[in-house]
Amino acid sequence: TDLSLIRNFSIIAHIDHGKSTLADRLIQQTGGLTEREMTSQVLDNMDIEKERGITIKAQTVRLSYTAKDGQTYQLNLMDTPGHVDFAYEVSRSLAACEGALLVVDAAQGVEAQTLANVYQSIEHDHEIVPVINKIDLPAADVDKVKAEIEDIIGLPADDAVLASAKSGIGIAETLEAIVTRIPPPKGDREAPLTAMLVDSWYDPYLGVVILVRVMNGVIKKGQQIKFMQAGTTHLIDRVGCMTPKIEHLPELGPGEIGFITAQIKDVAQARVGDTITDAKRPADAPLPGFKEVQPVVFCGLFPTDAADFEKLRESISKLRLNDASFSFEMESSAALGFGFRCGFLGLLHLEIIQERLTREYDLDLITTAPSVVYKLKLGKSKNEDAKEIELHNPADMPDPNRIEEIEEPWIEATIYCPDEYLGSILKLCQDRRGIQKQLTYVGGRAQVVYELPLNEVVFDFYDRLKSISRGYASFDYHQIGHRPGDLVKMSIMVNGDPVDALSMIVHRGSAESRGRGMCERLKDLIPRHLFKIPIQAAIGGKVIARETIAAMRKDVTAKCYGGDITRKKKLLEKQKEGKKKMREYGNVNIPQEAFIAALRMG
Ligand code: GDP
Ligand code: MG
Repeated sequence: TDLSLIRNFSIIAHIDHGKSTLADRLIQQTGGLTEREMTSQVLDNMDIEKERGITIKAQTVRLSYTAKDGQTYQLNLMDTPGHVDFAYEVSRSLAACEGALLVVDAAQGVEAQTLANVYQSIEHDHEIVPVINKIDLPAADVDKVKAEIEDIIGLPADDAVLASAKSGIGIAETLEAIVTRIPPPKGDREAPLTAMLVDSWYDPYLGVVILVRVMNGVIKKGQQIKFMQAGTTHLIDRVGCMTPKIEHLPELGPGEIGFITAQIKDVAQARVGDTITDAKRPADAPLPGFKEVQPVVFCGLFPTDAADFEKLRESISKLRLNDASFSFEMESSAALGFGFRCGFLGLLHLEIIQERLTREYDLDLITTAPSVVYKLKLGKSKNEDAKEIELHNPADMPDPNRIEEIEEPWIEATIYCPDEYLGSILKLCQDRRGIQKQLTYVGGRAQVVYELPLNEVVFDFYDRLKSISRGYASFDYHQIGHRPGDLVKMSIMVNGDPVDALSMIVHRGSAESRGRGMCERLKDLIPRHLFKIPIQAAIGGKVIARETIAAMRKDVTAKCYGGDITRKKKLLEKQKEGKKKMREYGNVNIPQEAFIAALRMG
């Protein structure tokens, strides 16, 4: 294809501003699908995505559009994931495009994720076309939104496209703007192949499908290719694009976006950001920007019913087929038995996996306290030299005497909210050890920038933020590295036995109140047993908070009337055995909901 007839673009927006609806309209208008095939929100194809209205996996569609100039263009629309947890995938999608449609809700205006996305788009030298969407709403205020786009973002908004993706207004204008305002890609057909691996996923029929953007050269069926970062070679067996139906093609040339398959079994072998080249005539250097994504939030997932362990293993393995960014390894806990320690890109990612396991695989799970990754400097001990380790699980915390320093990850968070909620939001950030960096007002709304320890955010920060702002605050963050902190491991002991699943690393200053809160909540959450149960929070050997659940008196022999002495004896023995077992294994019956409920901060 003639490069001048190709346009590659993505759509960027704050969540709910209408990105998916607009994408659907563009597909509909350019005839990629028949009316019947046009189910709602074609691009969001997972159930959870539909329900939550978020885009998890990026999808790309090729559209064929005959413009006013009479030429037929190949438009490649990349749908990017809309959440900070998937920032790297977003950055690769953006790197595959020359421009972006910036969708802004005409009633809501510019929000935190709008800004975060726009800045990224600018970093990739995109031509940005603002589209003011939802102009059909009574609350739409086009002039105000134009002013925000100019003042806050710094983009000219005079020729913003005015649209209602819902009613089909402004769709033709959007398509013309894509062709006239976004530049065509550049590339050299004769140069050695370089193609960026933009995304990969597992398809039950095709195996691992790889989304690529060809920079230079040509990629074809039967070609031997090499992944420059992974160092592996593969034989291409299919080349094609999605319209969004699968369409097979003989090749993809420079500037084009499409998919390939190469009999790859595992998505982990096809890592986002890798460079694909020709095995026989390789490029000199890989494309810039490769990064290995690392999980930042870890937690344990255990089946509520120990008999479900194998089912959990199978289900996790299946999910992992499609998502190389989460990790898992077997873990065992005295309280919870066998389960898995899993790593995620962020909390949303954790919730998505947890929800899919529960919903699609019908599993009942206990999720342990999420933990971030700490860096520990250990001093010399009897058997080892000084060294640095990463800690993913509070249960693995070494003896405090060996630790010289603990570093925790910090983030920079941008919160955007209506003025009236600012006070309580500042208080929330302050309570979570936040450091205020910036506070500005734009158009009746406040924008605050805080540096916060990630471990103060992973529990319930987002929920709290939403509830104190009645859903109006928006939140976006990125990591800014590790910093030393005065951190300690707090253990929770139920009936004298530490419950690993409840232990966590906390700031020393808030340990006591967190400990007291946990004990109080657990006291209400754990039912009475035949014996009294002390619940303690401790740091090292020192108890910092304590509650006791009184014993329930229950004489099991009371039910046996009169004579049958052997039966009585048997029951008494059973009761004794029961008690022994409980003591031995610390087998207090902790209800599943207690684990999560206990972790919520007051
Ligand atoms: P996304 O999160 O940016 O992908 O947003 P969606 O496309 O899922 O849209 C979010 C919500 O806004 C949905 O309920 C849409 O039906 C609605 N919506 C999208 N475009 C319009 C529009 O032009 N007008 C109105 N009134 N609602 C819209
Ligand atoms: Mg969407």
